[in-house]
Amino acid sequence: MTSPSPDNPYVTHSKVYLLGKQSVVAEELQRFLDDEGLVFSTDTPVAGEVLAEIAGRTCYMSFGKGRKTNLEYLENIISSKHGSVLEHVVWNLLLTGISRSLTHELIRHRAGFGYSQLSQRYVDESTASYVVPPLYQENEELRRKWTETIECVRKAYAELAEMSGRHVKEKYPEMSPRDRRKLTRQAARSVLPNACETKIFVTGNSRSWRHFLELRGTPHADTEIRLLAVEIFKALKKESPNIFNDLTLVEGSDGMPCVSVVHSKV
Ligand SMILES: Cc1cc2nc3c(=O)[nH]c(=O)nc-3n(C[C@H](O)[C@H](O)[C@H](O)COP(=O)(O)OP(=O)(O)OC[C@H]3O[C@@H](n4cnc5c(N)ncnc54)[C@H](O)[C@@H]3O)c2cc1C
Repeated sequence: MTSPSPDNPYVTHSKVYLLGKQSVVAEELQRFLDDEGLVFSTDTPVAGEVLAEIAGRTCYMSFGKGRKTNLEYLENIISSKHGSVLEHVVWNLLLTGISRSLTHELIRHRAGFGYSQLSQRYVDESTASYVVPPLYQENEELRRKWTETIECVRKAYAELAEMSGRHVKEKYPEMSPRDRRKLTRQAARSVLPNACETKIFVTGNSRSWRHFLELRGTPHADTEIRLLAVEIFKALKKESPNIFNDLTLVEGSDGMPCVSVVHSKV
């Protein structure tokens, strides 16, 4: 897989960087158990899974009682749709190599998500990359036509940005260079296409990630976001096999991977 460059500003795959996860403060957990006269241990090394179990057990003060393994405990939480417990588990992902049209769909997921996205007002997009839609990756003629179109837009953006920069400088000589650049780029970006590559930092809790994977990891979803959902699924399932235990990767009827969910919308 080649990375985009000024000569080849085309991206064909998303990248998922799992940058942040939780940890358990063991001394504080012990202090709580001692204060309450409780004994508790669990068998998972995953902090998020431990925290979800502690959160759930707090509801009934069932420490040291009932289900023995973390997987058994979380399976019961998930199958009985006690999903609020899963909101205590959070991962921070940095996503790159994705299009603006994808992030437009992604940010529709409101509950339990936080977003920070590359700004087209602050960042000069004349060297931006462009995400090739999966359909155009499999057909040379379509890809050529698409690339020609994108090249026209890239040129138009660079020209417009330069012309508007001159205009803004003449019209607002007192304005700071930073504000001038912002005024210039916010106007010029209006011609950028949906395919423009972007980067977005997403924080989501495990209940929300499950819902996202269920809606976007299917053949009904746009192919680009579906393939991203598959990559996010792989990263999260590796992180937390117990919370995502009932989610699996299967082959869709179109031959592409998709995410299958046993317990829908927990
Ligand atoms: C295949 C597909 C096609 C789509 N096509 C379109 C389209 O053509 N046009 C379009 O506009 N969108 C479209 N969407 C987006 C879709 O309508 C949702 O906006 C998006 O999937 C986020 O889902 P959500 O609201 O369940 O998620 P979230 O916003 O994360 O919410 C999660 C859950 O929390 C609850 N919730 C959140 N906010 C509220 C609230 N304000 N009030 C009550 N309950 C709430 C709901 O139960 C919701 O399901 C499409 C989505 C998919 C997957």
